[in-house]
Amino acid sequence: MDCLFCKIVAGEIPGDIVHTTERTVAFRDLVAQAPTHVLIVPRDHYANAAELAAGDPVASAELVTTAAAVATAEGYDDYRLVFNTGAGAGQSVFHTHLHLLAGRPLSWPPG
Ligand code: AMP
Repeated sequence: MDCLFCKIVAGEIPGDIVHTTERTVAFRDLVAQAPTHVLIVPRDHYANAAELAAGDPVASAELVTTAAAVATAEGYDDYRLVFNTGAGAGQSVFHTHLHLLAGRPLSWPPG
């Protein structure tokens, strides 16, 4: 399967990896939208957050606990977690990924 994030997980293309767990890999977003912008992905391929939650709920929960660990490690108590689902909502890579954003004021609603 020609999947960018599968290749980062497999080490076939470089990623700026900041944290790993049994089921997840966390790496910095190439186009950071905040001082901390990290993507947390499952090692296994699922197209979006709902498919991951249905297929591997343990890994789904581990995305969130990994994001919290990264936020803490970078010194942030306040942060935003985002799953874009579908092209119309801004999803451009169809391997589940949780965006962790922190380090600047985050307004609501998001754009
Ligand atoms: P989304 O638009 O929600 O699917 O998020 C995909 C994210 O992947 C975007 O924020 C991109 O900047 C990011 N991205 C694309 N290619 C890479 C890469 N090679 N390494 C890290 N982040 C990437």
